[in-house]
Amino acid sequence: MNRDAILAEMGLGPVWKLRRPLPAIAAPVVPHATPVAPEDQAAPISRMGWPELASAVAGCSACGLCDSRKNTVFGVGNQAAPWMVVGEAPGAEEDARGEPFVGQAGQLLDAMLAALALTRERDVYITNVLKCRPPGNRNPAPEEVAQCSGYLTRQVALVNPRLLLLMGRFAAQTLLGTDASIASLRGRVHKVGSTPAIVTYHPAYLLRTPLDKARAWEDLLFARANDKRLQSAATAST
Ligand code: SF4
Repeated sequence: MNRDAILAEMGLGPVWKLRRPLPAIAAPVVPHATPVAPEDQAAPISRMGWPELASAVAGCSACGLCDSRKNTVFGVGNQAAPWMVVGEAPGAEEDARGEPFVGQAGQLLDAMLAALALTRERDVYITNVLKCRPPGNRNPAPEEVAQCSGYLTRQVALVNPRLLLLMGRFAAQTLLGTDASIASLRGRVHKVGSTPAIVTYHPAYLLRTPLDKARAWEDLLFARANDKRLQSAATAST
């Protein structure tokens, strides 16, 4: 695919419009299991496997968002994926379906991944900082992030990706432990533990601010280049 075709695929033409019908979204890899109240969990979150973690999220009432959610939104994709994508919080459609990144933002994410020849089923694991929807799509509150981020930390440890793509301010600030702006965090390779992390814009923001799609494309190319460089270095050292 040439550059113009890739940019067109991402909707980087003068006017963004959805070029393809919404793709069929696969069911979450980890279905909601029987709820387990946090106080009944046998192991701390940091030692949970996938089934225990999914069950803990499904039954979680650690913050007030449990009162208004329709579904918890755990994550989707390949649990052993080379890349892991982290967003902010479920929106209305995600809350209704129990899946992250559906609707127009999800379609844009799929187009961004396709521009790098990646698919959400095979190459990435996708989740959010918060597993429940903030009412009215308001920003996550600090206490909600504090209560929920242990689940995300465990998901990162279980996937153990080669690269983290942090989409939006809340994903970046939560996993990097900073209050810096997206603008100041872009264009650098950060570390979450020992995992390289690249910061870029959230697809929902890009739908509202299409002029920044070109910057997001730069971020994706930067992520791919660094991933290839690290892969080459790892191959050379073996
Ligand atoms: S947002 Fe997170 S901490 Fe709050 S109830 Fe949902 S799963 Fe629990």
